[in-house]
Amino acid sequence: MTVGSPAPAHTTNPMHEEGNPAMKVELEADKCVASGQCVLAAMDVFDQDDDGIAILLEEQVGEDRLDDVREAVAVCPAAAIRLVDQ
Ligand code: SF4
Repeated sequence: MTVGSPAPAHTTNPMHEEGNPAMKVELEADKCVASGQCVLAAMDVFDQDDDGIAILLEEQVGEDRLDDVREAVAVCPAAAIRLVDQ
């Protein structure tokens, strides 16, 4: 490519490629009732401490893990998890 030439038309936005951050996960640990459902739904993103309270392992998730986190949001009995557009 010549310096100064326009970017190719097929260039993709790197923020939306698979595996790159797409959405932010928010966890309100003070609401957590230690059910563990989020860990079952998305064990790459959530863990639990010794008291069973959820811990956020990844604050930003790519499209490859969005479905798992959406399930965690849906099944959390305390409504302690949110997905936020960045
Ligand atoms: S599903 Fe909700 S209440 Fe259960 S451990 Fe995860 S954050 Fe806590």
